[in-house]
Amino acid sequence: MTEKDQAKSQKHKRAMEKQKTKVDKRIAEASTERGVLILLTGNGKGKSSSAFGMVMRALGYGHKVGVVQFIKGAQLSGEEIYLKDLAAKQPGQVVFHQMGTGFTWDTQDREKDIAAAEATWAVVEPMLKDASYNLVVLDELTYMLAYKYLDEAQVLNALAERPVEQSVVVTGRGGAALQDLADTVSEVKEIKHAFKAGIKARKGVDY
Ligand code: ATP
Ligand code: MG
Repeated sequence: MTEKDQAKSQKHKRAMEKQKTKVDKRIAEASTERGVLILLTGNGKGKSSSAFGMVMRALGYGHKVGVVQFIKGAQLSGEEIYLKDLAAKQPGQVVFHQMGTGFTWDTQDREKDIAAAEATWAVVEPMLKDASYNLVVLDELTYMLAYKYLDEAQVLNALAERPVEQSVVVTGRGGAALQDLADTVSEVKEIKHAFKAGIKARKGVDY
């Protein structure tokens, strides 16, 4: 190693030590134990897939997970296939529900959409009262609030009153109404997206 490399290496070591001290201090200071409300929003790709990453994490610990999807895409998705199968095999570990009829991007029937949103919310509410669920994912819930298909106060109240150890992940663009209540809010920003270069959505990647 040259003298220059050695100096570089020393500098890196000092910077890392400093960083570690900072991180250790923050870890020591974070002493509250409770579930969190996470909002994953923004225009870029990665909101729902991040939520499903947390589903995998929770399942790894044998936690009970509820997944409710508020928009049924025209396309079947990998998570739907996988979680439906898992839910059938292990109903005590995963409950998977998808808004059946009603809202898709193609529907133009507001009354039918509202009925479907309300029927889906009726599945969510008991989950948010049931402490046996460690994690509840409410995929694309933000649109139900944006379109006023669900009552905002009712949704916020149910989220706020959930069991103290339960974590909830909400995905979808927008979601301003949830920001104050949420403990963690991440915005996925689009820098570029393959679709805009004419590349077709990929099985196992996009759906
Ligand atoms: P993903 O499910 O891949 O994490 P997402 O939940 O962040 O995506 P949604 O708005 O729910 O994004 O859109 C779902 C579908 O649209 C996915 O197939 C995703 O790849 C695609 N998509 C997401 N963001 C964009 C974008 N900025 N431009 C084009 N397509 C997008
Ligand atoms: Mg999504």
